[in-house]
Amino acid sequence: MANLQTTKTPMPEQEANVRNGNFLEVALGYTLEQAQNEAQRCLNCKNKPCVSGCPVGIPIPDFLAKVAEGDIAAAYGILSNANALPAISGRVCPQESQCEGKCVRCNKGDSVGIGRVERFVADWAAENGVSNVATAPKNGHKVAVIGSGPAGLTCAGELARMGYAVTVFEAFHTPGGVLSYGIPEFRLPKAIVKREVANLEKMGVEIQLNMVIGKVLTITELFDMGFEAVFIGSGAGLPMFMKIPGESLVGVYSANEYLTRINLMKAYKPDSDTPVLHNKKVAVVGGGNVAMDAARCAKRMGAEVHIVYRRGEEELPARLEEIHHAKEEGIIFDLLTNPVCIEGDEKGCVSSITCIRMELGEPDASGRRRPVEIPGSEFKMEVDAVIMSLGTQPNPMSYDGTPGLEKTRKGCVQADDHGHTSCDNIFAGGDAATGAATVILAMGAGKSAAKSIDAYIKSK
Ligand code: FAD
Ligand code: SF4
Repeated sequence: MANLQTTKTPMPEQEANVRNGNFLEVALGYTLEQAQNEAQRCLNCKNKPCVSGCPVGIPIPDFLAKVAEGDIAAAYGILSNANALPAISGRVCPQESQCEGKCVRCNKGDSVGIGRVERFVADWAAENGVSNVATAPKNGHKVAVIGSGPAGLTCAGELARMGYAVTVFEAFHTPGGVLSYGIPEFRLPKAIVKREVANLEKMGVEIQLNMVIGKVLTITELFDMGFEAVFIGSGAGLPMFMKIPGESLVGVYSANEYLTRINLMKAYKPDSDTPVLHNKKVAVVGGGNVAMDAARCAKRMGAEVHIVYRRGEEELPARLEEIHHAKEEGIIFDLLTNPVCIEGDEKGCVSSITCIRMELGEPDASGRRRPVEIPGSEFKMEVDAVIMSLGTQPNPMSYDGTPGLEKTRKGCVQADDHGHTSCDNIFAGGDAATGAATVILAMGAGKSAAKSIDAYIKSK
């Protein structure tokens, strides 16, 4: 008999006023008892709508049933066969719009907390020394993967499991892509990314760091080195700016740069060599998840933080949970407000930002109501830093100039849902092919492309 509790088993977490002063993980994770209680809420539906909402096709009711029985090792086997990075997706996947959004328990209350149980199972496996690194015997074929974000890592893991020799070429000195340089420690501890990457290495995946493809080696040279196929998973790490006066002042960051300094370069640690300003008052421009991450980091670095967003509360593109956490932690939301100019002092450092009030007009092409300036409503806010979080686009450095490879108008690699590009032996997926999206979509793309690469090499 299923547990008919209508709400999710609450996730233990640090108090808002404690956590906004540290970088430790906010959510503390379920105990075995809590995980079993939550898994028992699953009705084991015949048509499994949750599975159709999962881009990597995890057999969700099967692993939940094992957790409900208390057989966590079996649950991990099922989960890790389908998902190369379960401790990561359990933490940062937007489950409410994927598997949990399709769960029938939503009809009368909360969905099953699939992500919370997934996270428990992955952490339990690590704590108990259980891993799933078995691979097929080596098949003698070599594949190169560009980028070690979730798309590249998933593609590499799937191919390694099939017996391929896979080398991942990563531009940074640390693998993980946005998982390492973007998503803050308090949402995704870097020790967990390292642990998942170590599992892939145990499967034989080779990771070459500090290898900027397009500069150190070209894709054509990778083929000359004997790789039979190349997967491009180089993400969308190029920030966008507003093109308003003052954006080159000291103290104006892109969210990516700010987060990279803090997360990847550990600027939040007092003994870190990485320079970062310890600001008094910061404006974060934008309303997406990346803006919430930057704002919550700036708060933890000791600043008063304002989110400056040109539309209203309902239009904020960030996940509700992220907005809720940011508010609890004391982030101030200046909505229907848009920057027009950033001013500096005599040393060229940011001293204030001038904004204009907005009101909502008719819906635009995105279906959201268009923000319209209210004439004469300009006002100045004294700040000593501005973090621009307006979205990103792909950096085409790794693939520009590759003969025959087509790009989209936005500079992404032109690829279908299975990772095929205009070149038979080049595959692509994740943000490099779609523009900024989500971790689980990047993982799904990496998994599909691995299948396409296998089919291509077998057909040669
Ligand atoms: P990336 O993660 O960007 O990885 C690409 C990798 O390729 C990088 O390591 C990069 O260094 C490397 N690379 C680039 N060019 C080259 C080159 N020329 N040679 C070699 N290597 C190269 N999604 C969620 O689902 N949940 C979240 O909570 C979430 N939070 C986010 C927070 C932030 C701050 C950001 C920026 C994004 C967030 N996202 C989130 C989006 C998600 O992280 C991305 O959609 C996902 O990481 C894309 O994966 P990817 O593998 O395609 O690219
Ligand atoms: Fe269980 Fe919800 Fe999936 Fe049904 S839809 S099998 S209740 S997780």
